[in-house]
Amino acid sequence: MLAPPPAQAQQLPQPAAMVAPATVSRAAKRNADTSSHSTARHAKRASGLPLAGKVVGVDPGHNGRNWSDPTYIDHQIWNGRQWENCNTTGTQTDGGYTEARFNWNVGSDLAADLRAEGARVVLTRHNNDGVGPCVNTRAHILNAAHVDVAVAIHADGGPVGGRGFTVLEPVADGINNRVIKPSYRFASVLRNDFRTQTGMPVSTYDGTDGLQPRDDLAGENLTTVPYALIECGNMRNATDAAMLVTASFQKRAARAIANAITTFLRRR
Ligand code: ZN
Repeated sequence: MLAPPPAQAQQLPQPAAMVAPATVSRAAKRNADTSSHSTARHAKRASGLPLAGKVVGVDPGHNGRNWSDPTYIDHQIWNGRQWENCNTTGTQTDGGYTEARFNWNVGSDLAADLRAEGARVVLTRHNNDGVGPCVNTRAHILNAAHVDVAVAIHADGGPVGGRGFTVLEPVADGINNRVIKPSYRFASVLRNDFRTQTGMPVSTYDGTDGLQPRDDLAGENLTTVPYALIECGNMRNATDAAMLVTASFQKRAARAIANAITTFLRRR
């Protein structure tokens, strides 16, 4: 879901500040050493697995406390073509199950599946209890990590009578030109696997056969890595909502996305 519903509360905690350390402490150096050893161990353990040596970006849309800081969430960022809000709260089901929670659950399951296949995973957020980051920052995190492919996970707030999932693809804008073709290949594999492996139909109200190019979103506009965003279903539709809130569907969705990533990266 990409349009902002009204804010739900007035509490205003500030987003976590980014603090640059003035000096590199011995403890930080030790941690860096440990981290490089653990990276080496990871590489050894992963060799032979289908995603060994691959880096995958996972962007679970929104965040669980975006509602608590409307000033921050509504501030304008440049998305490569136009100004848009830093982020939004996302949508929710009639029963109050939030899109942010759904996105986080599927993103966590997906990260676990990808790691089990040998990939290193770069997440744009690390829990569902925070605010942000902004959509342009998410793109920068994935670009800076030079991930081999990235997926953003959402669920839509579409018309009550509309069903199904949509994969949103980038449109060439200069910044993303070099990754348009691989993004379309990935989007197509993702559409196929999600359709056949989750039981969710392609959207009846958005895109064509489950695919929709979008030129108004930071994730699509600013990406320099192969990228697609999936709206996994329509939270405003009762049939879709009943599926989306279950752990079994969330795990199935994560598995289908992981399979699409593996297929895409093995073909490259
Ligand atoms: Zn969303």
